[in-house]
Amino acid sequence: MTAVSDISEAQIWTYLESVPDPEIPVISIVDLGVVRSVEITGKSVEVTITPTYSGCPAMAVIAMDIETGLAKHGITDVHLKTQIAPPWTTDWLSEKGLARLADYGIAAPQKAGGPACCPRCQSKAVERVSQFGSTPCKAQWRCTDCLEPFDYFKCI
Ligand SMILES: [Zn+2]
Repeated sequence: MTAVSDISEAQIWTYLESVPDPEIPVISIVDLGVVRSVEITGKSVEVTITPTYSGCPAMAVIAMDIETGLAKHGITDVHLKTQIAPPWTTDWLSEKGLARLADYGIAAPQKAGGPACCPRCQSKAVERVSQFGSTPCKAQWRCTDCLEPFDYFKCI
């Protein structure tokens, strides 16, 4: 077992960067911006997370994944804190997270309304197909130029 006192907070951030988001596994929970802070207090690690939206069912999974992810490195004394305010916004997605979303064919979230353009061909001719995509955080849209359906990450 690793003594928490031998580990830096930076190291824990690195471990958390390898914990994927359960809904969009191409980005980590750090890139998603749900991890607000990491603090080592005495022998335990306190991780503060902010849900992408209240009642997001993925949060229970994220909490478990954090515990499992850190336990792999011998860190078992983990306290998870949920912080609701300020609320998570899509601004907290990292540059890397946004780029990976685009690679994955998911339109990056916009402040107002729907996606700015098709993630595949960048056409602005897009229309919403369904309010709900493959998970509650996503809506399904379609590009009327390349005719490809795509997920729009709507959690804000
Ligand atoms: Zn397109």
